[in-house]
Amino acid sequence: METTYRSIFKWGDKREEKLEKGIIELVKEQFNYTDEDFKKKVLYGNQQVKLDKMTSIPESTRRKFIEIAGSENVRWDDYSRASHAFGKFYGDLLYLRKGEIATPPDLVISPRTEKEIEQILLLCQQENIAITPVGGLSSVTRGVETPRGGISLDLTKHLNKILKVNTVNSTVRVEPGAYGPALEKHLNDCGYTCGHFPQSFEYSTVGGWVAARGAGQASTGYGKIEEMVLALRVITPAGIIETKDFPATAEAWDLNKIFIGSEGTLGVITSVTLKIRKYRPENDAFASFVFKDFKSATQCMREIMQAGFGFPHLFRLSDSVETATAFKIKGFDNSFSDRFLKMKGYRPGERCLMFVSIEGDKEYTHLVKKKIKKIARKSGGFYSGEKPVKEWLKQRYESAYLRDPLMDVGVMTDTVETSVNWDNLLNLWTQVRNYLESREKTHVMAHISHVYENGANLYFTFLSPMKQGDEMEDYLNYHSGLIDAIHNNGGSLSHHHGIGRALAPWMEKEMGKTAMGLLQAIKDNLDPKGIMNPGNTLGLK
Ligand SMILES: Cc1cc2nc3c(=O)[nH]c(=O)nc-3n(C[C@H](O)[C@H](O)[C@H](O)COP(=O)(O)OP(=O)(O)OC[C@H]3O[C@@H](n4cnc5c(N)ncnc54)[C@H](O)[C@@H]3O)c2cc1C
Repeated sequence: METTYRSIFKWGDKREEKLEKGIIELVKEQFNYTDEDFKKKVLYGNQQVKLDKMTSIPESTRRKFIEIAGSENVRWDDYSRASHAFGKFYGDLLYLRKGEIATPPDLVISPRTEKEIEQILLLCQQENIAITPVGGLSSVTRGVETPRGGISLDLTKHLNKILKVNTVNSTVRVEPGAYGPALEKHLNDCGYTCGHFPQSFEYSTVGGWVAARGAGQASTGYGKIEEMVLALRVITPAGIIETKDFPATAEAWDLNKIFIGSEGTLGVITSVTLKIRKYRPENDAFASFVFKDFKSATQCMREIMQAGFGFPHLFRLSDSVETATAFKIKGFDNSFSDRFLKMKGYRPGERCLMFVSIEGDKEYTHLVKKKIKKIARKSGGFYSGEKPVKEWLKQRYESAYLRDPLMDVGVMTDTVETSVNWDNLLNLWTQVRNYLESREKTHVMAHISHVYENGANLYFTFLSPMKQGDEMEDYLNYHSGLIDAIHNNGGSLSHHHGIGRALAPWMEKEMGKTAMGLLQAIKDNLDPKGIMNPGNTLGLK
């Protein structure tokens, strides 16, 4: 088994992805790179993992954990601890590339049953040991780090079963460690879909989706994860809380919502009941459009969302730079279609690409598509057919694999997302763009990919040369200015990545003292010894 730092930080199936010609051209153009620069191996991370610190949990206590979970499920070798020290925040990747792991967990435990989780939590309370539940470790907000060491509780090894599909109620009950593809395949085989497809789908879990309050690519139709969860079972240090899968209740406030977004700070989610929908891909309708500019395209999006005829499921709009980048990479520039679009007034540097897919009953999908086409036409959108959307869907998870080879050649690349109301969307987009572009030689792309009647998310991707030798400070300063720009211009701190520790410093400014006091009081009640994912997650003590 490979035991390098590289094998830990590489995304997904760990493949060594090659940069496409179009991306190489872009980097050369933007950053004055030469062919030589593409032979670099910046912070390649090929060294063998070796931790400075031994586990600090004494042998006698380790033995007790082994009695609970079995020796094969309690690990403290360097590689197991190192591979649970970080998620996929850009800074995490830098640390791993440098081989610097200051606070790895002391133990990685993979419980087999809920009973074992209860016993582990009890022992952690007695011995004051921190514990962090983890799924796919794909957090991009420093949600899985272990600043106090302790236990990284891996839920993927055993607690990954699909417990029950109820086709009468249209629900699935699933354990937290189930990965996206396993859940979706099981549901598809039963004629259903979960409808939750984050870009990290292949390597993230149901527990992580709920705990970090995520959104999938089809969220405009299916909703964010909080709209899918009907019931939860959570083991907290104070005891077990189990909600029931009623379609709706008025039993005081909604307990599910206390745990959705709690990021492991309150307890361990051990089962989730989700709504499911009929899987009928043969009915799907697709459409793509090119708009003359971002403003007319966003107005069209708003009109579609507020028209009252139903929503698309996938609904994406790339701004002009992201559109131009996609066209360049895919070799569209100077093609017959490109020349035709230019002739019609859809100019590069201004035009924007929109993708739509609609799922459900056949007549419904056709009706919604027809209505969307009508509004788009009225807003100056040029209908560019179904094919671009279908092509995009085929590679919907692929761009996640580009970050590693870009970092290998010294390119800093990261994404940040926010949500905003319609009346502030263009302002926020402009201000955040201006901030990002104020850094020399920075390529900034943005899109909207989750859309609501009242507003949408904005998702920014940036590429910029690393400041070599000072990569971390440089990134953290830039990132901090970026979050300030979002916060000061009325965007939410996060739309679907969660808060973790990366965005925690802004929480009190965003929520206010009283609201933070409430969150802390809930934590103090359920986790009186402060052992659950401690160390500033969500800005909590
Ligand atoms: C390339 C890439 C693309 C991404 N795209 C998206 C996207 O499109 N949409 C999106 O929403 N997110 C996205 N993310 C972020 C990330 O994948 C999500 O936050 C995801 O929901 C995390 O799931 P996970 O299983 O990896 O959880 P982890 O990263 O292991 O954990 C995330 C948080 O949840 C807590 N947690 C995990 N399991 C449990 C449990 N059973 N009980 C209690 N707490 C728990 C952890 O303590 C941690 O705080 C992306 C990340 C990457 C790297």
